[in-house]
Amino acid sequence: MNFTIIDHPLTRHYLTVLRDHDTPPERFRTAARSLTYTLVLEATKRLPMDEFPVDSPLEKTAGYRVRDVAAVAVLRAGLGMLDAVLDMIPEVKVGFAGVQRDEETALPQEYYAKLPDLSDASVLILEPMLATGGSLSWAVGKVKSSGARQITALCVVTAPEGVRRLNEDHPDVHIVAAAYDRELNDNYYIVPGLGDMGDRLFGTR
Ligand code: URA
Repeated sequence: MNFTIIDHPLTRHYLTVLRDHDTPPERFRTAARSLTYTLVLEATKRLPMDEFPVDSPLEKTAGYRVRDVAAVAVLRAGLGMLDAVLDMIPEVKVGFAGVQRDEETALPQEYYAKLPDLSDASVLILEPMLATGGSLSWAVGKVKSSGARQITALCVVTAPEGVRRLNEDHPDVHIVAAAYDRELNDNYYIVPGLGDMGDRLFGTR
């Protein structure tokens, strides 16, 4: 399976802050950002690079830059991961994909999509909660139809159902996550999970 769980101590530390129901939104946001740094390092391990000469103060040496990276935040919870990507890759092209879950059927419904030119880009899709996998599978389809060539999904918490769905629909997509949780409950929340990521980020209910 194309799936990597990050078990770095800092990943676990920040995941615990996110899981704790007493964590207020301001702390939740900084923890989401810090945790995302640890996912980005893994997710970008195989990015294509350009090599070029650079003049250090002492002599010319080999320099490298990453080539054509894009991030697509799945609204709204994916916004909680975007600042970390912008910090680490300031040149990143950014897109947004708005999908909401029908509360009864849990099927994804698009309400907004604005993607940059993704032809030949390596794309990081920011979807923190991989529950049923419907939203992420939909977002991957959108990104693929815009020409992306290498797609990695960054997730905070995943459920077995979502990982299975992604693997069936898009086996080429690599998932990098902080946790693989036990199950979904009857309301399609991940258990133990961390609750509703968007609500926790922005203090809504
Ligand atoms: N979305 C969330 O924000 N939380 C879940 O547990 C599942 C989907």
